[in-house]
Formats: sequence, structure tokens, C-alpha cells
Amino acid sequence: MNQLTVAKFGGTSVVDAEAMSRCALILEENPNTRLAVLSASSGVTNILVALASGEQLPDARTALLGQLTEIQQGILNSLDKPEMLTRHIEDILVHIKELSDSAAISPTKALHDEIVAQGELMSTRLFVELLRSRGTPAVWFDVRKVMRTDDRFSRATPDLANLQAEVEKELAPLCANQLVVTQGFIGAAKDGRTTTLGRGGSDFSAALLAEALNAVAVQIWTDVPGIYTTDPRLVTAARPISEISFSEASEMATFGAKVLHPATLQPAVRQQIPVFVGSSRAPESGGTWIRNETDSQPLFRAIALRRNQVLLTLTNQSMFQVHGFLAEVFGILAKHKISVDLITTSVISVSLTLDSGAELLTDEVREELNKHCHLQVEHDLALIALIGNRMSEVSGTSSQVFKALIDVNVRMICYGASSHNLCFLIPEADSDRVVNTLHQELLPA
Ligand code: ADP
Ligand code: ASP
Ligand code: MG
Repeated sequence: MNQLTVAKFGGTSVVDAEAMSRCALILEENPNTRLAVLSASSGVTNILVALASGEQLPDARTALLGQLTEIQQGILNSLDKPEMLTRHIEDILVHIKELSDSAAISPTKALHDEIVAQGELMSTRLFVELLRSRGTPAVWFDVRKVMRTDDRFSRATPDLANLQAEVEKELAPLCANQLVVTQGFIGAAKDGRTTTLGRGGSDFSAALLAEALNAVAVQIWTDVPGIYTTDPRLVTAARPISEISFSEASEMATFGAKVLHPATLQPAVRQQIPVFVGSSRAPESGGTWIRNETDSQPLFRAIALRRNQVLLTLTNQSMFQVHGFLAEVFGILAKHKISVDLITTSVISVSLTLDSGAELLTDEVREELNKHCHLQVEHDLALIALIGNRMSEVSGTSSQVFKALIDVNVRMICYGASSHNLCFLIPEADSDRVVNTLHQELLPA
């Protein structure tokens, strides 16, 4: 029976040779793990994004390239500088410098993705060498051969039918009897140009590849031993959850729990592939299993927070009893590929939040919307999502929540569409305090 497992290692898990060695051990102890999907070493993608922006002055560019070289050379040094790989990494660093110089003259979206993708290309090369140096043979695989996407650079969408066919042809035979190491986060458009799937996208890559390989499990190895009741960096009393359903974990990821990229669970749900989240620093600590069904279904399971939210209020005095206003507004947003999160309506207005931040709300979009309505835009808001079970079916749920929010200006509330969440928008300045209070009140130890 096929027991193939896919393991994804995030940035902190591959930050240096020591961290990479811990990942190697995890793979060596799990011979069924045939595909390792890697992020760039922690910090690398941020440096590459800065270089790709084209906004850095020459001195700043040199400093960034220096930092990048230091991270990669640190790993090479621990590997005793294998000659071929050292030359290869040096070539990539020169290539990044040349691309960054071009971006400083004329930054383009395609150039951005070409630059940013180099992080994953380097970490995977280094990791294969580290495995070999430990006597664990592994092959390096360029994921762009199978991860074909559209050409929406920096937010590309994979072509799933093509992925399935290419994985069967190119990747599955390789994984049949050896360990394969490949890149998360990156892909290629039809014309071969490199694309990326959005920040944090390696989780999504791993889940997509697991689906295409018909894997029995996906392991997401990160810097925390599982999914916590809320971000442990925010609330010290947060604690790991041993088991959580796909529905609950999807809500958490969607509403800001950074531990999983929001799209990660879509492929897992389609194929019912259990997902494990654990710490590569302490694999023995266990972690969280995400499955279709869980033993416990608590009313309140977790709290997620998303900062930097934008609230649009669209008002049209003649909206009352007029057909088609909402269709027009959503048509404009859909045309510009802006996805909407929360919605509330009144007789003459509709308020909605954007999950993509303000950058997609271009002058062109504003102008188009203004033709149909008066547009008000509010910033500095945070979205808090309470995640749980049967929340809209249990009396008193909302009163428990809002009792804890007595001194907060709740700007918008969404409740009832799903029994797994209750979301509201508050001033960002209050968000840390509110998450802490809610955790204390609703998720006491
Ligand atoms: P990686 O580089 O491995 O992908 P990320 O930084 O993307 O790791 O995700 C792990 C981080 O997610 C944790 O360090 C933690 O601060 C944050 N996080 C946010 N919400 C949660 C949560 N509910 N449970 C666990 N971690 C969370
Ligand atoms: N390296 C990419 C990022 O930092 C993708 C990932 O880590 O998942 O966003
Ligand atoms: Mg991540």
C-alpha cells in the first residue's frame, strides 16, 4: 500500500546547517517521507523582496546582498564548502545581483518573482548536499517542471489538472524509491517564466504536491509544536491543540493564523489527507493533527488575528429596492481579482473588508466604484476571528464574547454564515489586548 508522506520545512527549520540537520534526522527516521518541500532559509525571502522592489539605493543593495551571502556561506562553510555546490551558489548570488541591478532600473512583476524564487532554489540545493554529507541520498527536483501556474506574478494560481498529470509523469516515479527535495512557493507560467504563489506559500505547495502524489499525510514542520489556541507570540498562555478539524483549521488559516498558509487545507480536504503540524526543533514534543473528524468539538477552539484590514463602505442613496447594485459592486471587485472577506449591509449601504490589504485598491478600482456609489475607506483595523464548533447554534455564544469586549469599539460583526466562526473588526491599536482578554475569558487553561 502507498504510504508516501510529504514533509514541508519552513524558513526557520532550514535557517542554518544545524537546523537543516534536525530536518535531515526527521526524514531519516521516516523512510516513508519521500518528498521534502522547502522554504528559503529564514530571512532570505525578505531580503530578496527588498532587492526586487528596485527601491534600494546602491549601498543598501550591497548591504542586502552581503547579508544574503552570509546566510548561504554559513551553510556552505558547515558543509566544508563542496566545490561544485559552492560554485553553483556563487553563480546564483551573482545572478541575484544582476537581476537586482535590473530591478533598480526597471522593476517588473516578472523580475520580482525571478529574484524572490532564488531563495528556495538555494535552500534546496544546500539541503540535498547536507543530506548527502550525512550518507542520506536525495535528489534535487525543480518544482517548476510540474507547478505550472497562471502569470499573475507574486500571487500565481497553480493549474491543478496540469500539476496532476506532470506529477504522475515527472515526480511520482522519482519518489517511488528515493527521497526527493524540492521547492515550495515557486512555480512557472506557461511560457516558463518563474512565478510565486504568495508569501508563506510553501505550505500550499506541499499540500498540492501531496494531493497529486496521493500521499497519506502532509507534515508541516515549523518553529512551534503545533497549532496553538492563538498565536503564542501574542498570548503567553496559548497552548498547542492536539487535534483540530479541517473546517476549524481552515478558518484559522484564513483569518490569520500564520502557522498555515490560508490555501493549505484545500487540497488536503479534497483528498482527505491528514495534515500534521509540528516543530522541527522538537519533533518529540508532538504537534497538531488536522483531520476530517476530531474526538472533541469545543464551542471555542481558538482565536485568530489579522492586522492591517481595510474596510470599504459603499453607499448609494438609490440602492433601496433597486436590483443589481451589489452585483455591480462585486463585479468590479471580481474583475480586479480583489477578494472580499466580511460583508454587512444596510438599506443604502454595504460594508466589506478586503483580505488583500489596500494595495489592490488602486485609483482605477476606486474610480470604477465611485461611478456607482460613494466610497468610504477606513484603515488601521484588525479582524479577530473566534473559531469553534456549533457557535451559531448554541444560546449565549455571542453574549459570552461581547461581554469580554465591553470597552472596545466593535466596528463590524459577522456571525452565522458558518457555525465555526464569529468575526469582528476592531481598531488595530486594541487588538493585542483584546486577543489576550478573549483568550483568558473563553479559552482558560
Ligand atoms: P514557517 O517559516 O515554518 O512557515 P511561519 O512563521 O510561517 O513558519 O509560521 C509559524 C508561526 O506562526 C509561529 O512562530 C507563530 O508565531 C505563528 N502563529 C500564528 N498563529 C498561530 C497559532 N494559532 N498557532 C501556532 N503558531 C501561530
Ligand atoms: N519563502 C517564502 C516566504 O517567506 C515562502 C514560505 O516560506 O512559505 O514567504
Ligand atoms: Mg509559513
